[in-house]
Amino acid sequence: MMWNDSKRWSALCSGDACPICLGPEPLDVVATLEASWVTMQEAAPVRGYACLVSRTHAVDLHDLPESAAQAFMRDAQRLSRVLAAVTGSVKLNYEIHGNTIPHVHMHVFPRYRGDRFEGRPIDPRAVVQPVYAAGEFETVRAAVRDALDG
Ligand SMILES: [Zn+2]
Repeated sequence: MMWNDSKRWSALCSGDACPICLGPEPLDVVATLEASWVTMQEAAPVRGYACLVSRTHAVDLHDLPESAAQAFMRDAQRLSRVLAAVTGSVKLNYEIHGNTIPHVHMHVFPRYRGDRFEGRPIDPRAVVQPVYAAGEFETVRAAVRDALDG
């Protein structure tokens, strides 16, 4: 675990070596919101999975300036509403870890009746790919993008 390499961990936490801060923006950005980017990948743990990445570098929620934290939560609500509408999920799961990239980001997982992990959290190691039918990802991504643009 990277926490045990204190020099590397410090560089990640300060932002100096943060892979998100080093690039112009994260990979696979679908939309840019008030305080965050929304990313989606076809190789996802579940259909409709998205990640909300803070545009301000911070390790933990309490490290964000209050205005940025409030804006991040507004973005989370907006994404949540859009993902629920686009995917028809039963509910959404939200996870904030940052164990490998200590830059605030929230994983959002739509949950479905009869999904592989019913009644418990998604286990990324037990996911069977592909989670999208052929061409489905492009349709879902476009619907999310359009809804967030509006
Ligand atoms: Zn960062």
